Amino acid sequence: MRAFNFSAGPAMLPEAVMQEAQAEFLDWQNTGMSVMEMSHRSPEFMSVAHEMEADLRELMAIPDDYKVLFTHGGASLQFAGIPFNLTQPGDTVDYCNTGVWSAKAIKEASRFVQVNEVAKAETTIPDFDQWQLSDNAKYLHICQNETITGVEFQSLPDTDKPIIADFSSTILSRPINVADYGLIYAGAQKNIGPAGLAIVIVREDLIGHARETTPTLMNWQTYDQFESMFNTPATFAWYLAGKVFKWLKAQGGLDAMATLNERKAQKLYTLIDRSGLYYNEVAPSVRSWMNVTFKLKDETLNQAFLTESREAGLLSLRGHKTYGGMRASIYNAMPEAGVDALVDFMQAFEQRHT
Ligand SMILES: *Cc1c(COP(=O)(O)O)cnc(C)c1O
Repeated sequence: MRAFNFSAGPAMLPEAVMQEAQAEFLDWQNTGMSVMEMSHRSPEFMSVAHEMEADLRELMAIPDDYKVLFTHGGASLQFAGIPFNLTQPGDTVDYCNTGVWSAKAIKEASRFVQVNEVAKAETTIPDFDQWQLSDNAKYLHICQNETITGVEFQSLPDTDKPIIADFSSTILSRPINVADYGLIYAGAQKNIGPAGLAIVIVREDLIGHARETTPTLMNWQTYDQFESMFNTPATFAWYLAGKVFKWLKAQGGLDAMATLNERKAQKLYTLIDRSGLYYNEVAPSVRSWMNVTFKLKDETLNQAFLTESREAGLLSLRGHKTYGGMRASIYNAMPEAGVDALVDFMQAFEQRHT
């Protein structure tokens, strides 16, 4: 029996996708082998790769002057890759710091470039007119959705600099205008597919300016030139991500996901805001649709909450250790029934214990 798994990542994948993969695990499309055992340069696998890119472009309405790169090293490698590809030593870059993932991006970039922190907050996003932008910045980096606290940008600051955005925990959760960004990047293991793959969507004029010393597999030009196959990619992760993209199209694409995701999140926030036991610290205007955090006013009930929720088949609700409390990650693959079950559980728990 599959439980409802609220893990922040790696996270739940659509059951239909898992079943399809299971059915063709040993013999993929009558090739006599698993897709995992097949050359990444075979025509069969190349067709997987091409369809995956085409489906992602369709889902996100990615303009033609943007390249889609399938990369190694997760989102974290791009924390270094971004300054390597877009700056020279001594350049200045702007970073907004809205939490742990922003801070990690800042820390890594600071090893290679002059980082100016334009604003800092943990449970809100400072008003854009308070941001201390620098005139000579090469780009402005934001974390679109801070996975640990559940703070999500709902609009963007006005700037003529390329906006570089970490979309790891919110990519494909709703339609966005890709052209508002210079670059979007995301690790796959939250809202795309298995760990091992990351996606970089980059405006083509931002490719080709990497430092001389950029490692080959960190240089976006390498991925562009070799169709993301300079070396062996994470083939099984690509294949499964491709299936997730087809599943998303069958669900009605990102408009349909947005309607569903907003409804799922609001069910939880409504319950939390009405409750005498639970509370959420994030400013309502920037609450995440993907990671809903909440704390218990009586912290001595934390362990009982985790134990009883696990017994009810609701898994991985413990919040990140740096922030505490609870977190329900409700990515695309979390069915609405999972959120309903969590709401019911939380109400019953509050009644039992208060
Ligand atoms: C999970 C996460 C990362 C790290 O992703 P990796 O693929 O493990 O490197 C980076 N940024 C955000 C916002 C995340 O949620």
